Amino acid sequence: MGFASGPPTTAGRLRGAPTYTTALSRLLLVSTLLLVLAAGSAGSVPPPGSDAPSAFFARTDSPGLEAKVSAVPATALATTYRPGCPVPPERLRLIQMNHWGFDGKLHAGELVVRDEVVRDVLSVFERAFEERFPIRRMQVADRYQGSDARAMAADNTSAFNCRPVTGDPGRLSRHSWGDAIDVNPSENPYVDVGGRVHPAASDAYLDRDPLRPGMVHTDGPLVKAFAEVGWEWGGTWSNPDYQHFSATGR
Ligand SMILES: [Zn+2]
Repeated sequence: MGFASGPPTTAGRLRGAPTYTTALSRLLLVSTLLLVLAAGSAGSVPPPGSDAPSAFFARTDSPGLEAKVSAVPATALATTYRPGCPVPPERLRLIQMNHWGFDGKLHAGELVVRDEVVRDVLSVFERAFEERFPIRRMQVADRYQGSDARAMAADNTSAFNCRPVTGDPGRLSRHSWGDAIDVNPSENPYVDVGGRVHPAASDAYLDRDPLRPGMVHTDGPLVKAFAEVGWEWGGTWSNPDYQHFSATGR
């Protein structure tokens, strides 16, 4: 019975010293970033689709965000990029990183973003990691054949996808530029211009109170961290998009 409450020592220490931990890990992150960015297009990263990414994540008592940045294999863009899309594949980067899941365990995630926003994105997910914000899964949109509906139904967190706005097919989504990220769509649904909810099974999450795990909100780590790097949240729009963050506010 005594084991059921988990390891309170580690959790308590992390919660008890957030400022110090944050400052220290930011220093460490900068060093890490210099390394991973320098190694940027080395091409040594296993392609999405293998389960290999978890292999390079260290397992320690005090885990921190670990991230690797590389060129995006063409196979990871097969259904999400086509000629004429606004950002060419060579401007995109694959970020492989660890994140906390709803099960309280570490998981391997992958995100495709435009090269110039990599540092900002990593600073945001470092904050999310430090505050143990749970993320259901983080897979590139190509794993869902580029279908936003399928990705949302799977509660997938993702970024780049050259596609129309869901529910408004005449407009190109900001995700086409690789500087927009959707987080936990099931807990953070989107209401389109026609008033339809995406994903459809998430009506209960249109009620933003009380807060439940994985929900994005103004006092949470994601909205604050994204704001610090100048990104905006779609949760305050007249047609709210609670899952959506973007560098341009669109
Ligand atoms: Zn979005």
